[in-house]
Amino acid sequence: MVTNLEEIAAYSLLKQNENDNFVDYLKSCNSLEVDEAVLKINEVVEPQIDCTACGNCCKTLMINVSTSETKKLATFLNKPIEEVKHTYLEEGLQQSFIMKSFPCAFLTGTKCSIYENRFEGCKEFPNLKKKDFTNRLFTTMMHYNRCPIIFNVVERLKIVTHYLNSSPTIV
Ligand code: SF4
Ligand code: SF4
Repeated sequence: MVTNLEEIAAYSLLKQNENDNFVDYLKSCNSLEVDEAVLKINEVVEPQIDCTACGNCCKTLMINVSTSETKKLATFLNKPIEEVKHTYLEEGLQQSFIMKSFPCAFLTGTKCSIYENRFEGCKEFPNLKKKDFTNRLFTTMMHYNRCPIIFNVVERLKIVTHYLNSSPTIV
């Protein structure tokens, strides 16, 4: 299991071609079987990684914030909703908002300062429990070089799907 962010970024550079080919390979696999494999691997990988000691996704993640989440945040921060929107958010698509700044304004060190009230998009990331993994390869692989959970799940998926025939030394 690799959890060091610098190592992951370095491996990612080395594995660019391998990953491009793996993405093509996965598209030819049975998507239900891939979903099942991702779910099983994630059950092993996720508990071994402490997100509160990482917080790396919060530096770059484009989170959608719904109108109801905006209200909830304003209540939690005890600030007028217009002030919360002006300070932290910008207009997104379909009456939703996106965070205004990166890293996220609520990231303190490696931890989320509004953890109990964080947005649905934050809770769901890295989205490995959702169906249709093979339809989300582009967005998932965007975070391969910076999310230890995604990195380790993808590396194990290469073996489970027989894309790689033997265990690479890094997993
Ligand atoms: S709200 Fe919290 S979990 Fe979500 S991106 Fe910001 S710091 Fe990360
Ligand atoms: S989801 Fe990934 S990038 Fe975000 S904190 Fe957890 S391990 Fe780090």
